[in-house]
Amino acid sequence: MSRSYKRSIELLARAQQKIPGGVNSPVRAYSSVGGSPPFIAKAAGPNVWDADGNRYIDYVGSWGPMILGHAHQGVIEAVQKAVSDGTSFGAPTEREIALAELVTSLYPSMDLVRMVSSGTEATMTAVRLARGATGRRKIIKFEGCYHGHGDAFLIKAGSGAATLGEPSSPGVTEGTAADTLSATYNDLESVKILVEASPDDVAAIIVEPVAGNMGCVPPNQGFLQGMRDLCDRHGVVLIFDEVMTGFRVALGGAQALYGITPDLTTLGKIIGGGMPVGAFGGRRELMEQIAPLGHVYQAGTLSGNPVAMAAGLATLSAITEMPDFYDQMETKARTLTSGMQGVLDQLNLNLKFQRVGSMGCLYFTEVDVTDWQTAEVCDTDRFGVYMHSMLDQGIYLAPSQFEVGFLSITHSDEDIAQTVDAAHLSLKKAYDR
Ligand code: PMP
Repeated sequence: MSRSYKRSIELLARAQQKIPGGVNSPVRAYSSVGGSPPFIAKAAGPNVWDADGNRYIDYVGSWGPMILGHAHQGVIEAVQKAVSDGTSFGAPTEREIALAELVTSLYPSMDLVRMVSSGTEATMTAVRLARGATGRRKIIKFEGCYHGHGDAFLIKAGSGAATLGEPSSPGVTEGTAADTLSATYNDLESVKILVEASPDDVAAIIVEPVAGNMGCVPPNQGFLQGMRDLCDRHGVVLIFDEVMTGFRVALGGAQALYGITPDLTTLGKIIGGGMPVGAFGGRRELMEQIAPLGHVYQAGTLSGNPVAMAAGLATLSAITEMPDFYDQMETKARTLTSGMQGVLDQLNLNLKFQRVGSMGCLYFTEVDVTDWQTAEVCDTDRFGVYMHSMLDQGIYLAPSQFEVGFLSITHSDEDIAQTVDAAHLSLKKAYDR
């Protein structure tokens, strides 16, 4: 408990002079849990170290990409080799083909794939493509799902949800909001109502096939298939946003896990092995409408960057070379789940630990979380106490109730046991037990 965060606190003060909030992505600022974020100096395997030299067991994993653990030898070597040949050419390279071949072989729904530099770019473009291909304006998204910060996604359900959305950020126009409809996760009927109200207007439904941005919410039985059927019936493009779930819940993502074929898929995080990579891909007829084959425009100076491709390739190769990779991940996740459940039972707390594969979270609520309505009532104050107590015991969790934790293949049984012990103390503290 005697950790010092002195250097991190100084760095935050310095950062705040020149960077809005001192951070380059808002959740890093710890606004929802209070306190000051550790500035990270280095990482290896399941651990990160902050600027004060404190070591943590990391469950953020750079928000998902680090499934092999940090500083994986094969990835580092591949990156070093690529860097020494030059960092960017803005021209086609062989590694891009290798990654495209690998990704399309693992995701049979993708005949063609285009690399971009972030998940946001992937989802923005997937929506543009759906609109371009269908000639329709509207998209349907789900409350509590996150698809990056493209204007079309920064929309919340308005009071008349069936008709108009409202911008959830200043700077997003009402015109944009009017084209995004919000449905309720796991509620197929809410989607049906929106589609059937204006079937000729709806270009796409975009969904996280396992929701990972309101904690961890698995799809109900029939929810994804129901949307597949609805899209087929009305010529709507079904987009699975697998930026988080791709290569995470299964090698072939949630679409493989649940056996549903989307029209378009967006990828990010693991595909870049910690470098900036996103991708979108899908059925040939759709993807052929992207420039230069078709008229739907999309481009990127650094798209398919050779260093980023090398990191992605090395990461996916390391995963595919281990035939039992996802079994091992599942075993680790089960150990953590049963450890956490044991703690909850001992403390007589009826909180919900929800997970799919190696992503999951502890909800500070007693009801099963199935959508944003059931997620948003969580006790975020107690979560903040818990999260800071975990941090003080060397367990690095995302600083928000609505983010998931990720395991890596390097998390050992000892790491997990240490985490469970820390959770015991932290929950006692959060609930005054
Ligand atoms: N889609 C999903 C499902 C995500 O979780 C995220 C990021 N967490 C994004 C899109 C956006 O990706 P990026 O932050 O790389 O722009």
